[in-house]
Amino acid sequence: MPLHLTTPLIESDAYGRPGQQVWLKMEALQPCGSFKLRGVGHACEAAAARGARRLLSSSGGNAGLAVAWAGRRLGLPVTVVVPETTLPQPKALIAQQGAQLVVHGSSWMEANEHLMQLRQPTDAFIHPFDDPLLWEGHASMIEEVAAAGLKPDAVLLSVGGGGLLSGVVQGLQTQGWHDVPVVAVETTGAASLAAAMQAAELVTLPAITSVATSLGARRVAEQALACTRTHPVHSAVVTDRQALQACLQFADDHRVVVEPACGAALALAMTEPALRPLPVLQQARRLLVIVCGGVCTPHADLVRLLDATK
Ligand SMILES: *Cc1c(COP(=O)(O)O)cnc(C)c1O
Repeated sequence: MPLHLTTPLIESDAYGRPGQQVWLKMEALQPCGSFKLRGVGHACEAAAARGARRLLSSSGGNAGLAVAWAGRRLGLPVTVVVPETTLPQPKALIAQQGAQLVVHGSSWMEANEHLMQLRQPTDAFIHPFDDPLLWEGHASMIEEVAAAGLKPDAVLLSVGGGGLLSGVVQGLQTQGWHDVPVVAVETTGAASLAAAMQAAELVTLPAITSVATSLGARRVAEQALACTRTHPVHSAVVTDRQALQACLQFADDHRVVVEPACGAALALAMTEPALRPLPVLQQARRLLVIVCGGVCTPHADLVRLLDATK
């Protein structure tokens, strides 16, 4: 039995307009607060079936939390190694799941190197975005949308390392929906997919400067760029301020708190259709938004970050 939940698919009266519906796939309501549980849960179950004795993650965000959550349900010990820069909220939630939390180094790279030194042959390392098992797990959200009887005209989602994008494209293709375009949204300072699409090859950003920390992969997975060649994928970039404002607006409109990483996609769904940046977004009669969620930014932090982003 999968570890994730079937999430609600809600038509938003706040963002819809006559003849232009906005549908929200509420991944924020997964028990650990983000879509990550779909792919990570699937990868952890596969690892358990292979006989793994421990699960490892080097994500100090929603992926690490999903591994901790999955490990607890599967009865497997979990070790998460995070750098000193990790936010207090995800650290507390990872520890709450009973995972061993190791704080090491000043950057993700150092934490990840330390994790690789701890790694035993019977351990399973769960990558945050670059693994076909993750994409297969994420694809299940499109299966649910199809089962609900909705075929969207466009899908709006956020991109970090591109695991969500890869899974959603896989899900669309499985349905035979090759004609349903995906709009992949990033924030300025974390736009590694936009850079790769422009260069037509993978690009490593020198640094991440966005508050949308869950979008902070300096380089996307190869599969994410490959998706842009086999499926209609459009790139869009919003500012941190737009993403933060969207989170606060969404909390008022739909009473759910999400991270700026999710606010990035929401920002374009909230924009009046005629003012949206891409024709596919302006014209979509049924726009599907993946509300990817995220637990790293409590409401008070959203307010504080917006004040600091004048
Ligand atoms: C991981 C994550 C993303 C980005 O997903 P990728 O698969 O890395 O592209 C976006 N939003 C939230 C809340 C996340 O946890």
